[in-house]
Amino acid sequence: MSGSAYQGIIRRYRDALPIAEEHIVTLHEGNTPLLPAPQLAEQIFPGLDLYLKFEGLNPTGSFKDRGMTYAVSKAVEKGAQAIACASTGNTSAAAAAYGARAGLKVVVIIPAGKIALGKLSQALMHGAQVIQIEGNFDQALEIVRVLANESHCELVNSVNPNRLMGQQTAAFEICDYFAEAPQYHALPVGNAGNITAYWQGYETYFAQGKSTCKPQMLGFQAEGASPIVKGEIVKNPETVASAIRIGNPANWESALKVRDDSGGLIDAVTDTEILASYQLLARYAGYFAEPASAASVAGVVKLAQQGFFKAGDRVVCTLTGHGLKDPDNAIANSPQPQTLPADAKQVLSVIKL
Ligand SMILES: *Cc1c(COP(=O)(O)O)cnc(C)c1O
Repeated sequence: MSGSAYQGIIRRYRDALPIAEEHIVTLHEGNTPLLPAPQLAEQIFPGLDLYLKFEGLNPTGSFKDRGMTYAVSKAVEKGAQAIACASTGNTSAAAAAYGARAGLKVVVIIPAGKIALGKLSQALMHGAQVIQIEGNFDQALEIVRVLANESHCELVNSVNPNRLMGQQTAAFEICDYFAEAPQYHALPVGNAGNITAYWQGYETYFAQGKSTCKPQMLGFQAEGASPIVKGEIVKNPETVASAIRIGNPANWESALKVRDDSGGLIDAVTDTEILASYQLLARYAGYFAEPASAASVAGVVKLAQQGFFKAGDRVVCTLTGHGLKDPDNAIANSPQPQTLPADAKQVLSVIKL
């Protein structure tokens, strides 16, 4: 293969992600599109310079791959034989895939019946040992922390700093594209690892003189799972956006610090607002993202309605995961296809052009 071909975030950003070549475990993640979305902006706030960072185009369909390539590479460097995580779905998909690539045993603990179908299918296909608990994500994380403490198994949740180091590369890519940081960066917040990682990335580039500015970070939780906004743990988090159905975020403190250091905010959006943006995205931008991802756009819509933005403001929304992960929600929130006899006349009679 030619030396210039793209080979994943570790080789692309070697200085920020130090590791010996022989330990690199990669599926060539990263280098995702940063798509201008003028038609979507027109629907939200005309004049907004809106971009979508589509992390659904990573190898397992979410941004978790950026963290997982580095966390699994570091686990291999350490000589670990097994990795484990708790997950609302995408972390388990990424752990299962990178673990399979590295030849490691993978254990994933998930809340029973609360994982989008596509994500469960990924963990199973890659051969992870999948344990479903009769409880929520927060309980799954407590259990896996005990497991990691009592065994030689490497914990690959976002409490592992290598995850955040990998995930900061999305901010590098955005700054490399614009040759500076945007004014605003919006993203969904679950465990708050990603908002922490992006900010770390923007700060690193700023410190290295690769950007003359830093963005205000705009984080959005789902209203039924908004502990950071409420200022208290949510015992039974509920939202259609399963990837951010988290009541006690692992990176809670750092999320508050990111909010304050960046002069940004963390707010909540309702499931109705999330689903409306889920459809707006698919129809006006051409990107099909999962419901949790649409929380970033829903938050921008909400702020725009409050008069937050002015024309020309540059906003990047991270679309954290692919819509194909969760076909059930897509179908439940769309008009159903019509069924007709196999007869051209009848078919043509109902098509309006
Ligand atoms: C993990 C995930 C999130 C939440 O990210 P945190 O780092 O936990 O805040 C949001 N959207 C999707 C699709 C995810 O998989």
